[in-house]
Amino acid sequence: MEDLQTIVNDIAKKYGSKDERGTVADYIPQLACVDPNQFGISIVTSEGQEYSAGDAEVPFSIQSISKVFALTLALQQEGAELWERVGREPSGDPFNSIVQLEHDHGVPRNPFINAGAIVVTDVLLTGSTSVEANARLLNFLRMVSEDENIDIDLAVAESETEHGYRNFALANFIRAYGNLNNEPADTLDVYFKNCSIAMSCQQLAHAGRFLVLDGQNGLTGDAITSSRTARRVNAMMLTCGHYDGSGEFAYRVGLPGKSGVGGGILCVAPGFASIACWSPGLNAIGNSHLATKALEELAARTGWSVFSNSIK
Ligand code: GLU
Repeated sequence: MEDLQTIVNDIAKKYGSKDERGTVADYIPQLACVDPNQFGISIVTSEGQEYSAGDAEVPFSIQSISKVFALTLALQQEGAELWERVGREPSGDPFNSIVQLEHDHGVPRNPFINAGAIVVTDVLLTGSTSVEANARLLNFLRMVSEDENIDIDLAVAESETEHGYRNFALANFIRAYGNLNNEPADTLDVYFKNCSIAMSCQQLAHAGRFLVLDGQNGLTGDAITSSRTARRVNAMMLTCGHYDGSGEFAYRVGLPGKSGVGGGILCVAPGFASIACWSPGLNAIGNSHLATKALEELAARTGWSVFSNSIK
């Protein structure tokens, strides 16, 4: 295989300087302030070696990527019972669709669309305070990325709360169908703060390493989660991680991945590496325009794919 540092250097140079960069999300006003000319990429291998280039140290709003870690915690806590409240099928609809929720009687199609993540958040909030629920995800992220400096960007959380009419509609709708235990405003408070966690590509790539290692902590060999849960989270990332662009991402990149409207994508090459790529401009579906293209090139150059075991 080509040297990984050469690959990330080439990719950061090529995509960092593209003119066509997509459009920064503006439905959360605070995200509209982010400079679209940034591009970062980090790879952390199964052995723990890191290869980074571009703006890999710049923290960005992880947004929906937080749903990967919230799902891991909720599956650990609830086991199979979680699936009584949220489905496992790709949605084929936008991430914030309300129509589908009515059709499915308040049981969201999967844990990675907003409605599903709101239910997962409600599961994590039940039996604890909102401060504890946020701290639980934050501490989990600090532990898996081995970095105590990760935090919530409260300005983003506030901005999203102020403009979160659609998410309030979803949460109220779910509550009306009896699939939310807490008050919509309380569950959303935790949800918005989880989405507003800021991390760099480096931190995120380290955080994804347990999904590369079948649930194991790469440093200690201890189980962060069971191999069963890690595999299932990866399966959800592959089938549902890119909103209604999930099939296209699986086709082009061939790896489980989860995107967020902050422009980040976390990608897992099981057994090989965790990859985080970030560029704030989004395509029409809401996935980072350049990070998607960069990951397609990375997968082609490394040969990493869940559909083949022939590495280049
Ligand atoms: N906090 C965002 C929202 O609820 C997350 C969306 C995303 O990244 O997909 O709209």
